[in-house]
Amino acid sequence: MQGLQHTTSGARLAPPPRLTAAQRLGVLPMPNLAWTPEVERETAHLYEKVKGIIPPVEWPFHAPYVKAINDLKRERNAVILAHNYQTPEIYNCVADVVGDSLQLARLAGKSDADIIIQGGVHFMAETSKLLNPHKTVLIPDSRAGCSLAESITGADVRVLRQRYPGVPVVAYVNTSADVKAEVDICCTSSNAVKVVESLGVDTVIFLPDRFLAANVARQTKVKIIAWHGACEVHERFTAEELQRYRADDPSIEIIAHPECPPEVVEVSDFAGSTAAMIDYVKTRKPRRVLLVTECSMADNVASETQGVEFVRPCNLCPHMKRITLPKILDSLVYLREEVTIDPALAERARRSVQRMIDLK
Ligand code: SF4
Repeated sequence: MQGLQHTTSGARLAPPPRLTAAQRLGVLPMPNLAWTPEVERETAHLYEKVKGIIPPVEWPFHAPYVKAINDLKRERNAVILAHNYQTPEIYNCVADVVGDSLQLARLAGKSDADIIIQGGVHFMAETSKLLNPHKTVLIPDSRAGCSLAESITGADVRVLRQRYPGVPVVAYVNTSADVKAEVDICCTSSNAVKVVESLGVDTVIFLPDRFLAANVARQTKVKIIAWHGACEVHERFTAEELQRYRADDPSIEIIAHPECPPEVVEVSDFAGSTAAMIDYVKTRKPRRVLLVTECSMADNVASETQGVEFVRPCNLCPHMKRITLPKILDSLVYLREEVTIDPALAERARRSVQRMIDLK
């Protein structure tokens, strides 16, 4: 039986208990978190990046954490991955790598850090672990979930396969490792059409986002059987509210994430992944832009882009906002919360992600 060890006499022993990251690497003392002239001086260059978003009166609350986190990252040889929806003080002041979930996991593999801290939600931390199985992956709050990832389980995928025998299954990366282990291939919002068409079949099951599925179906002849999940942030946008912005200012450029309902994408000037949206703003530099996505992203793009006015219909992702500077600091000090995945399940889930990555 897998996982059991044998003695010379043939008796079977249970494997030794797995040590936690804290047991392997040790807990560090909590740093001093006072606002001092030294903290002010050492974080001044970082405040420059966020001064348009974070008022001066708030910086003394963030800066001691920013300094402590950056010091401990070096001591631990850790890297912080921050999704585009993380708050500006995380995205701009402590993150080493920023991007969408797949960019983050892939770039983490190129780093020589021993520890990855995921500024994002749980499925993202799992994807980082899948692609970096030998690194310690920590998420500062394991309750950071996702309405899409939680809409479906691996058992649901097995039922779908029974109902539609022989039909391949494509899973958006916003799914748990348990689901990724049951599907044929993963996709992101930027390569979903390409992935669907790469399978060379006339019908695919696409999960879990029904809106992304509908937006993909508009761009391909492949028949899409969709699961019923939705992102609780993007499903709230409506075409009517975007048309009101357009009526107020006909020159405004509206760019939407494809997790929005199709009628929202229909009235937008452009739809793409968070990475594609950022690229659109930085390349085209519209005078005024409406970002139809989670609201921290507008703050983060604004901090990196001059001369663009951002209009922000503010839909917050409560799961992303569970990640805070104090919790990131706790992760570095206490090495929690460690993300682990059963090796056999990880092997199958990694195959689905790798198949997508290998698709040129
Ligand atoms: S924004 Fe939507 S898809 Fe992204 S983590 Fe939040 S609930 Fe999930």
